[in-house]
Amino acid sequence: MAYFNFQLPKELEDFRLKVREFITREILPLEELLEPDATRLPQEQLKKLQAKAKEAGLWALGAPKKFGGQERSIFELTLAAEEASQHRLGAYNPGLNAFGSEPPNVLYEGTESQIQKYVIPTIEGRAHAFMAITEPSGGSDPARAIKTKAVLDGDSWVLNGSKTFITGVDRAEYGVVFARTDPGREGITGFVLEKGMPGFNWKEVPVIRPWYPCELSFENCRVPLYQQLGEKNKGFRLINKWLVRNRIPYTAGCIGLACAAMRYAIQYAQKHELNGVSRIKNQSFQWMLDDSEIEIRAARWLVWEAAWKADRKEDPRREASIAKVFGTETANRVIDRCIQICGLEALADHEMPLGRWYRELRIKRIGEGPSEVHRMIIGRDYLPKEES
Ligand SMILES: Cc1cc2nc3c(=O)[nH]c(=O)nc-3n(C[C@H](O)[C@H](O)[C@H](O)COP(=O)(O)OP(=O)(O)OC[C@H]3O[C@@H](n4cnc5c(N)ncnc54)[C@H](O)[C@@H]3O)c2cc1C
Repeated sequence: MAYFNFQLPKELEDFRLKVREFITREILPLEELLEPDATRLPQEQLKKLQAKAKEAGLWALGAPKKFGGQERSIFELTLAAEEASQHRLGAYNPGLNAFGSEPPNVLYEGTESQIQKYVIPTIEGRAHAFMAITEPSGGSDPARAIKTKAVLDGDSWVLNGSKTFITGVDRAEYGVVFARTDPGREGITGFVLEKGMPGFNWKEVPVIRPWYPCELSFENCRVPLYQQLGEKNKGFRLINKWLVRNRIPYTAGCIGLACAAMRYAIQYAQKHELNGVSRIKNQSFQWMLDDSEIEIRAARWLVWEAAWKADRKEDPRREASIAKVFGTETANRVIDRCIQICGLEALADHEMPLGRWYRELRIKRIGEGPSEVHRMIIGRDYLPKEES
C-alpha cells in the first residue's frame, strides 16, 4: 500500500525557512526599536527593508507574474503567512510590509487603464489600497447590508452612503468600494475610488487594536464611468472572490501568532517561578501548553487542506470556512492560555506582546466573516438543497 508523504517537499520547506529566517534576522531586531503599540515602520526604514526582501527573492509573492509578481500558490502563501506573522506587529502588518502589498485581487480583472493606474504601482510598492464592503448596517451579509447607492448620471456614477471598519484607508491612495446599483444580491457593483475625490470623506474609528480602521462617507461623490470595476451588478461575485481566497492565508497568520505566543509563554515559564518552583514544571500550565500544541497542529492541517483544494482549482469554500473557524478560535484559546500562564504581568507590561496579540486576535474571529457565518456555510451541506 502506498502512503502519502506527510512532510513538505524540500522546495516548500526551503521557502518556509527563507521567510522564517528573514523575520528572525531583519524584522525582530527592527521591532525592538519601535514603540510597543507601533503599527508600522517609518517610511525610510521600510524602503531599505523592502530592498532587502527583493534581494532575498521575497517580493510580491502572490501577485500574478504578468504584473511583476511571483504568482506563488495559495499553499505557498499560506506557509509564508504563518511565518510572516510571528512578531509583535505581525497580526496586521506581517513582515512589517517588507514583502510588499497586493492590490485587492478583484482589480486583476480591471480594465487596462485600471491595471496601469492601480495594479502595477501597488505591486511595485508605490501605492496602497483599501477594500470597502462593510456598512453600518452590517458586514456579515453584504448582499443585504450594502445600502450605499450608486446612480448613473451621464458619464458618472453618483455615490451616496457610508462604509465602516475599513482597514488601510489612512495609508491608501485608492480603494475598491461596493455600492448598490439595483435591488438584491445581483444588484451590487464595484468601483475604484481615489482619496481626495470631491464628496468622499473618511475618518478613523478607534477599536481595540492599535491600527484603527476607518469610516467612509460619500455625499454626491461623482465616480467616472471608467472607474466602474467589472460589469454592472456583478459585484457580489467579486466580493466572494476576494473573501474566499483571502481567508486561507488570513487564518495561517493567526496560527503563526499562536505559535509565537506559545514560544513566548514557554520561555517565560522556564524563567519564572511560581511558589518557588519553575512555572514550566507546573502541571496545569503544561496541560495548557499541551492542548495548545495539539490544536495548533490540527488547525495547520485544516488550513493546508483548504489551500491544497484552492490550488487544485476546486471550490475551497467549505474547507476555507472550516479552517477559518477552527484556526482563529484556536489562536484565541492559545493566546488566552499563554496570558494565564504569565499572569497579570502579561496584561500590565506593554513591552510584552501578549496583551496586544490578544486584542488583535479577538478581531480575527469577526473579520473575514464571523465564526457563526462560517458555521452556517459549513452546515449548508446538511440542508436540503432548497433551504441552503
Ligand atoms: C479592525 C477591523 C477591520 C476591518 N476591516 C475591514 C475592511 O478592510 N473592509 C471591510 O469591508 N470590512 C472590514 N471590517 C468589517 C468586518 O468584515 C465585519 O466586522 C464583519 O464582516 C462582521 O460584520 P459586523 O461586524 O457588521 O457584524 P454583523 O453583520 O452586524 O453581525 C453581528 C454578529 O452577529 C452574528 N451573525 C451574523 N450573521 C449571523 C448568522 N447568519 N447566523 C448567526 N449569527 C450571525 C455574528 O457573530 C456577528 O459577529 C473590519 C472590522 C474590524 C473590527
